[in-house]
Amino acid sequence: MKYRYLLFDCDRTLLDFNSAMRSAITKLLNKYGIENVTDEMVSFYDAWNNSLWGQLERCEITKEELVFARFPVICSRYGIPYPGKGKMETDYILFLSEGHKPMPDAMETVKELSKSFELYIVSNGFIEVQNRRVKESGLIQYLKGSFISEEIGFSKPDARFFEEALRQIGNPDKSQYLIIGDSMTADILGGVNAGIDTCLVSEKIPSGYDYAPTYVVSSLTELINLLRKF
Ligand SMILES: [Mg+2]
Repeated sequence: MKYRYLLFDCDRTLLDFNSAMRSAITKLLNKYGIENVTDEMVSFYDAWNNSLWGQLERCEITKEELVFARFPVICSRYGIPYPGKGKMETDYILFLSEGHKPMPDAMETVKELSKSFELYIVSNGFIEVQNRRVKESGLIQYLKGSFISEEIGFSKPDARFFEEALRQIGNPDKSQYLIIGDSMTADILGGVNAGIDTCLVSEKIPSGYDYAPTYVVSSLTELINLLRKF
């Protein structure tokens, strides 16, 4: 078999981040006085949060800066008095950690693949959020372990994130690993940086990048078919 270890991204690959985020930001704004949380508010937060994560991936900001940049902007836009550093941030992390809906076919896919491969999570995120979601979703029973950027000290796409994961797994032979994820800038670039093969899970073939995934599948079910070929 060509690959022995599958390194799965978590959000938008195995777990439905959009539904967790929507629910968390809605609960948060409810708690801080906004009764009717609109789609516009959720979209605004999503875009702002994504832009911060993009800055983190490019090493322009630290994780701590990301955490504390998120809500002052939301508060001033929607007229909420910012309650001071740490309050909304802590509440949001708690609400987000409650969301653990799997992506379509995710449970069946990891169950099937766990019979033939060692499966790990590789995620840019917060330890308490990701560990709780992975556990409560039920994914954990099919995994050998998980690597969260907050714990590792580096974020995808930094090669050091993956090098540390491989070191902890105990097998440095990169040719036996496959990174699977939905993000060109975190998962696929991370694999390129670390010299590990990648599989993008995406319905569209992305354009405008000067690097490419080793494989593209449109769904997790297709990933099973791809891996059967090796
Ligand atoms: Mg993702």
